[in-house]
Amino acid sequence: MANHDDNLLRKIVAHAKEYGFVFPSSEIYDGLGAVYDYGQYGAELKNNIKSFWWKAMVQMHENIVGIDAAIFMHPTTWKASGHVDAFNDPLIDNKDSKKRYRADVLVEDHIAKIEGKISKEVEKAKKRFGESFDEQQFLTTNGRVLQYQEKIGNINDRLKASMENGQLEELKTLIEELGIACPISGSKNWTDVRQFNLMFSTELGSLADGANTIYLRPETAQGIFVNFLNVQKTGRMKIPFGIAQIGKAFRNEIIARQFIFRMREFEQMEMQFFVKPGEEMEWYEYWKERRMKWHSILGMGDDNYRFHDHLNLAHYANAACDIQFNFPMGFKELEGIHSRTDFDLKAHEEYSGKKLQFFDPQENKSYVPYVIETSIGLDRTFLAVLSASYMEETLEDGSERVVLKIPAALAPVKVAVLPLLKKDGLPEKAREIIDDLKFNFNCQYDEKDAIGRRYRRQDAIGTPYCVTVDHQTLEDDTVTLRDRDTAVQERLSIRDLNERIEALVSINTLLRKL
Ligand code: ATP
Repeated sequence: MANHDDNLLRKIVAHAKEYGFVFPSSEIYDGLGAVYDYGQYGAELKNNIKSFWWKAMVQMHENIVGIDAAIFMHPTTWKASGHVDAFNDPLIDNKDSKKRYRADVLVEDHIAKIEGKISKEVEKAKKRFGESFDEQQFLTTNGRVLQYQEKIGNINDRLKASMENGQLEELKTLIEELGIACPISGSKNWTDVRQFNLMFSTELGSLADGANTIYLRPETAQGIFVNFLNVQKTGRMKIPFGIAQIGKAFRNEIIARQFIFRMREFEQMEMQFFVKPGEEMEWYEYWKERRMKWHSILGMGDDNYRFHDHLNLAHYANAACDIQFNFPMGFKELEGIHSRTDFDLKAHEEYSGKKLQFFDPQENKSYVPYVIETSIGLDRTFLAVLSASYMEETLEDGSERVVLKIPAALAPVKVAVLPLLKKDGLPEKAREIIDDLKFNFNCQYDEKDAIGRRYRRQDAIGTPYCVTVDHQTLEDDTVTLRDRDTAVQERLSIRDLNERIEALVSINTLLRKL
């Protein structure tokens, strides 16, 4: 998969729409910016991703439980969490192209360019020194690399200082001094930087009742924090333990251009892991490793993932990194892993006046636990799956196909059952087979068109297996099983189908590799 492949992204968007994965929201009214609906296959794929995450986190860990908190929360929640005062993005407009940008992202993209130059130096040196090349030594001694690093360090310090202190003029000065131009107009004609709060607000109750401004939650995490004590007590949970949740979150994103990568209504899969203060770094490393493993066993190519440490830590974090995925737009954040200290629970203690602590029987004292958070976007995972699995291929017989090589355990339809002809009792036999398989798998029946066309249709939605019923089936109760990726067919007895397919497509097979 090439980097920055706009063409690939365009193809994925078109394919997702044509085959019932993702539609623009309320499309008959020309859609709504950065809001999308999942179609019949998209909903299945999404459910399977959720199930894989939930099972890996909750079912596979004795000390993790899952909840489902409401989207609406008491408005003080967002005071305590800092979102009312600080969930802002600094925005800036280019006066010539009239395009709006996040000022911090413009600076970060500039830094990424310098990082790219360092990578180029490394590549060059690798070629020059061959076997004996020591990358670590090169990075710490090469003059040009050191200069680049110093530059990055300086820019980062200034970015961090201006973001933390809300110095918007300083941010604009930085953009001007770095000579950052608008990618569309190429001009450096910028407006001032303004703050913009990303939370959507609405009113609870009718106005006559004395309305109260409330927010659509911008993250699911706070629903976990406010329930910390409820879950700890009723579940008799002992530190360390985790609370997981999957649910919708809403952000009035300034720039929303990259399909389901950045939406205004999206879904998160988050887990907050409560630990003893002082032990957080061990758990941070543990969860980094576990989460990367989860991605890896999907088999979408380990090279498509990398860690990216946060240089600018949020004020409450003492360590943070992203797992980035190689999207068609390049490596971008897919998941965040954050060591959030006791910031959230302490803030809720302060604002609610309730004690949110754990009594440690061994130490005979209470404390506010520290938290390691793993937070992954469901929609971004969906896009990662589509990006890694979309392929255009020429088969051995010379025919062309578009195939989604979706990991079998996540595929929307697991098996298609196809009678070779629409007569001679073959359709009835195929239905009989489906009536048995449908209890375990999402199946599809298709009798229309030549068999090749039917295979193509299943390839396009990523169905990993096709069962074909022919005249021999009527004689000896065997069928052919066709593999989507290799297009190889094997003959097997109907009796063995259930067990065989189960071994190939079940989420359990993946979970065993965790
Ligand atoms: P970004 O820097 O890309 O805006 P973020 O750092 O604000 O993301 P977090 O607040 O850490 O994101 O949210 C955790 C995860 O939720 C992200 O890793 C991402 O997968 C997902 N996510 C965040 N914002 C969006 C969005 N607007 N649309 C889709 N997914 C999102």
